[in-house]
Parts: sequence; C-alpha cells; structure tokens
Amino acid sequence: ILIHLTIQSLIGEKNINTMDPSNIEVVDNRIKIGFSLGTLKEERWIKDRDILMGKVKELGAEIIVQNANNDDQDQLKQVKYLLDQGIDVLIIVPNDLEKAATAVEMAKRQGVKVISYDRLVLKSNVDAYISFDNVKVGQMMAQAVLDHIQEGQVLVINGATSDYNTKMIKEGYDIVLQPEVKSGRIRIISEEWAPNWMSEFAFKVTDELLQNENAIHAIIAGNDGLADGIIGALSEHRLAGKTVVVGQDADLAACQRVVEGTQLMTVYKPIGKLTDAAAELAIKLAKGEPLGLESTIYDGKYNIPYFMVAPVAVDKENIDETIIKDGFHMGDEVYRNS
Ligand code: BGC
Repeated sequence: ILIHLTIQSLIGEKNINTMDPSNIEVVDNRIKIGFSLGTLKEERWIKDRDILMGKVKELGAEIIVQNANNDDQDQLKQVKYLLDQGIDVLIIVPNDLEKAATAVEMAKRQGVKVISYDRLVLKSNVDAYISFDNVKVGQMMAQAVLDHIQEGQVLVINGATSDYNTKMIKEGYDIVLQPEVKSGRIRIISEEWAPNWMSEFAFKVTDELLQNENAIHAIIAGNDGLADGIIGALSEHRLAGKTVVVGQDADLAACQRVVEGTQLMTVYKPIGKLTDAAAELAIKLAKGEPLGLESTIYDGKYNIPYFMVAPVAVDKENIDETIIKDGFHMGDEVYRNS
C-alpha cells in the first residue's frame, strides 16, 4: 500500500506540530480498477473474478467488482457506480455485445480506459480486448466430433446471440464442418441459439427432437452449461454416453462427465492467463504505458488490440496432464463419481 504523507510544513508553514493529525493529509494513490461482469452464472466467472482480484491486489492496485446478473440496464448502472468511485480503468465483460457500448462511451468520456474482457463490445473502440482464441474453440469442438463420427446427424445449440463469442465459436466449427456438410456426410439436423446461455433451453430442444424420434449422432453445445442440459435430456432417453456431446469451459461437472463418458470433450481455457494479462494491461493503461499488443480484432468499426490466449481440447486421454496437472480442478473432484 502506497501511503503518502503530505506534511504542510513542507509547503511553507513554520512551527507546525506534525503530531497533530489535522496537519497530515493521507493520499492513497493506488490505481483503482472497476470490474463489471455481465454474469456470474457459469462456474468459470467465479474463477475469473477471484483470480483477477488476487492478481490486482498482488500488483498493488485496488479493484471493485460488480455483477449485472444478465441485465443490461443493471450493467450500465453498475458501470456508472464504478465511475463514481473514481476508477482509472474499467474491465468489462459485456452482457450485450452492442448495448454495452453505452457503458464504454460513458467511461471514455471521463477519461477512463476500457478493457473488453473475454467478450468483445462491438463498435466501441475499447483500449484492449483480452480473450481466448474463440474461433479455435469452435474448431476444436467440431474436430472432436469428426474424429468420433465420420457421418451422421448433428445438432448445434449455440450460446446467446447477444454474445460475440457465440459468433466466433460458430465461425470456428463451421470451418471444420462445412466441407463435411457439403459432401453430405454430415447433416445439421437443427441449429438453435440459447437465450442467456440457458441450460434449460438446451434441455428442451434436445428433449423435443428426441421425442419426435430424430436420430442425433452428435451435439455441439456452445458451452458446458448447455451440455449439462443436453446430457440431462439424453439421459431421460437412455442416450447419455451414446450420443456424442462436446462443450467448452472445463466446468467441474463437465470434467466429471468426460471421465465418466457422457461428454466426449470440453475445451479448457486457462483463466489465470486471462486474469494476469487483464491485471497487467489495466495497470499499463492506468500509467499511460504502451501495451505492446500486435494482434488486433475488428469490432465492426475499429481495430482493437487483442491479447489472445490459446485454448486446449481436453478429453479422457489428456485430462490428467492438462486440467488436473494445472490445478484447475483437483483429481479427486474430477474422478469423484468414477
Ligand atoms: C464465454 C463462455 C461462457 C459463456 C456464458 C461466453 O462468452 O466465452 O466461457 O460459458 O459466455 O457465460
């Protein structure tokens, strides 16, 4: 903690009593970071929050966290609150890819730098975007499906349309799947978008298709939360472990399903690399230092400096040497039901 003691005698007054507390002004000049999360619903966001808080404190700065619970208006109010607290940098996970631009604009008007964290805010010219390679995430999911089934019917349940990651993930699996669709080996039986990444929606879609006796050979889930709903529906039709399911996030429940065999794979995204970059870049922005980022991403209007972290495809074979070895989850938790 940096505490500066400004003794008034240094600026001219004589015979001042420095033991008198009124003569000592305490200036806390730590960098203040505001972290606005669109949601904390998925397990990963708790890690993002906790690890980022730890890292920011380790670097000697201060952090204030707000969670909007999937509500755009609340996110805007919370950003206003953070700005009122005098933050130097805003790190935002937008609930809505476009609406959050208002919050970014508000921050920028007050001279506060903005980092778009994990999800991109469109057309808002944020100072940096920090995320995983989300196109790669989609490619990994589709590749895992094709490594397992050479032909058949595939159901796709995407995440929310209000999240730009949904678009990038789709771009990724389309790159891998489209040639197979064109050749007729793979048929997309249905493609849906889950509002707010709701697991219940994924359950319902899967259940209805199965009730209508559709054959589904593989299901691409936008994340492990959606995979959870899907596998719940598959279980009711005695198909869990038979229909291939892939997801992303490496949620603990998903890792347990991977080792049990009801989910083929998940994409492991090492959150610590994201949080460390976010904390370090936020401090650089606050100090006005250059970020030194080479990659960029187009936000629909501007090219944004992009710090990109590589995701890792994880299945039963490599879960020990990735997720468990890194301590992302403990081995005894992952294998608890096995
Ligand atoms: C993230 C996923 C997360 C999803 C739902 C996406 O933007 O990339 O990791 O599961 O949002 O919160």
